[in-house]
Amino acid sequence: MTTHTTRMLIIGSGPAGLSAAIYGARAGMKPIVVQGLQPGGQLTITTDVENYPGFRDVIQGPWLMQEMEAQAVHVGTRMLWDTIVSVDLDADANGGVFRAVGDGGDIYEGETLVIATGAQAKWLGVPGEMELSGKGVSACATCDGFFYRGKKVVVIGGGNTAVEEALYLTNHSQDVTLIHRRDSLRAERILQDRLFAHPNVKVVWNKAVDHFVGHAENGQLMAVAVTDTVTGEKSEIATDGAFVAIGHAPATSLFEGQLDTDDSGYLVVTPGTPKTRIPGVFACGDVMDHTYRQAVTAAGTGCMAALDAERYLQAKEFDEMAKEAAE
Ligand code: NDP
Repeated sequence: MTTHTTRMLIIGSGPAGLSAAIYGARAGMKPIVVQGLQPGGQLTITTDVENYPGFRDVIQGPWLMQEMEAQAVHVGTRMLWDTIVSVDLDADANGGVFRAVGDGGDIYEGETLVIATGAQAKWLGVPGEMELSGKGVSACATCDGFFYRGKKVVVIGGGNTAVEEALYLTNHSQDVTLIHRRDSLRAERILQDRLFAHPNVKVVWNKAVDHFVGHAENGQLMAVAVTDTVTGEKSEIATDGAFVAIGHAPATSLFEGQLDTDDSGYLVVTPGTPKTRIPGVFACGDVMDHTYRQAVTAAGTGCMAALDAERYLQAKEFDEMAKEAAE
């Protein structure tokens, strides 16, 4: 059992955590990144990435994350492979540090804490979903919609995400179908109006997805098998791409009772900043952002968290010096 101490403790190693690490290391804060269960975050389970600035050609999500990690290490970050199982954000009770415990019992102490634990797209959990992931089944239209130019796509879900994804996909496809398990949408009225008015979008009501059907020859998605939730009738909806958009789950359980979350479960920060209600604790990336959820926006808020952490430490040191001078 080891105790690791740092000026900046970062939990999570997606674009937010690693960007915070790069900025923090360059500011001399010798950050520690605890990588978590999915080192590299959600991008490590995607394939082609075409919207991360700086790369003209298509790059691979896992490769991008390896490069970010290598850069973070190169500038002085310590990457540790552990999963945090509990945190104590009462710095006053812990000699001025935020404390986290790994699943093997190691203790991590940070003068500042950057939370970059991310969010996971929810999946339906039906047969074929994982097998055809990256072969027609996706959970991110912004990431993968481009690959369906001129093809037929379906979106599954009835909330804001599903409607936004369906509307986004009309930029690429003239044949978009929204499949929803009920006969009314949960999405905001204005989004619904836009959806219903769009000539290239069709809505299929009262259909629950049973499984995804792959093409016997090329292994690509061919159709979505559904059951009518009213009549029980089974059918197949032919498609080239299926976007599962049934919500995201931010990874916030570690902070329950210590930090505030909004109605959808995301960590609350002071608007326009990564500051949580506890000075010295910052949140960045998808764990605090249910609107944009892009690698580049996560990286941006990671940078903001590191800059604010540095300012917080400087202000704290200045206060301590002023206090000592006054004594
Ligand atoms: P929501 O929880 O709002 O909606 C999820 C949708 O998926 C619901 O329609 C639900 O159906 C459906 N669903 C859930 N599980 C299943 C399942 N197993 N099978 C089939 N359908 C399923 O999630 P969103 O991601 O849409 O939104 C999350 C939050 O983020 C909301 O507060 C939303 O307002 C917000 N948001 C805001 C945006 C913006 O402001 N621009 C953009 C995107 C999200 P049912 O309705 O039957 O429960």
